Amino acid sequence: MSIAQNLQKISQTLPQDVTLVAVSKTKPVSDIQEAYNAGQRVFGENKIQEMVEKYDVLPKDISWHMIGHLQSNKVKYMAHFVDLIHGVDKFSTLKEINKQAKKHNRVINCLLQVKIAQEDSKFGLSQEEVNEILSSSEYEVMENVKVVGLMGMASFTDDENLIKNEFKGLYAFFDNLKKLNQELKIISMGMSGDYPLAIQEGSNMIRVGSAIFGARNYQK
Ligand SMILES: *Cc1c(COP(=O)(O)O)cnc(C)c1O
Repeated sequence: MSIAQNLQKISQTLPQDVTLVAVSKTKPVSDIQEAYNAGQRVFGENKIQEMVEKYDVLPKDISWHMIGHLQSNKVKYMAHFVDLIHGVDKFSTLKEINKQAKKHNRVINCLLQVKIAQEDSKFGLSQEEVNEILSSSEYEVMENVKVVGLMGMASFTDDENLIKNEFKGLYAFFDNLKKLNQELKIISMGMSGDYPLAIQEGSNMIRVGSAIFGARNYQK
């Protein structure tokens, strides 16, 4: 199936309030252009350098999401255009984003990444750390960064029950938190392998790569 067909197939099954982020990491600009021509406008990348290169040559009405683990020293390269940063897992990173956004007179929307999987390989904040950040006086005075939600990645496993429970836990935390903080609107969870489950558990933003663009080849 073509990229356009994959997109159409996925989009048809999505509830209206769910945003599809097409994860184009490692894929060529021509693939993104094909998805763009089919109507897709939101794309996710996990490496800042790669996202910048693609941003430079592609249509400017694309909304670029940074979904990868962030290196603070590279935030400056995307501060003029990035639309949403999903993977903020340190207060110091949030401070850096605020600093860089200020230089461009922008407010950059961010999601705090919460660790929901037991695996050591996954990044993320604990619920306590999220609470600490959002209630800190330091965050309160940051004018160029806005936390608009949470992001989580489930365990890499065939155990559907485990995945479901991890999503459930994140949603419950999100649901509580947004009663205290009106700015929290987005819960980013679900990838190619588990997005139907994530939506069932309350996700309103899914990050789908291989189901749209095909398997990734990391050799190149
Ligand atoms: C690569 C990636 C995805 C997409 O993965 P697929 O399994 O190809 O859909 C989603 N989220 C993050 C954070 C990623 O790094």
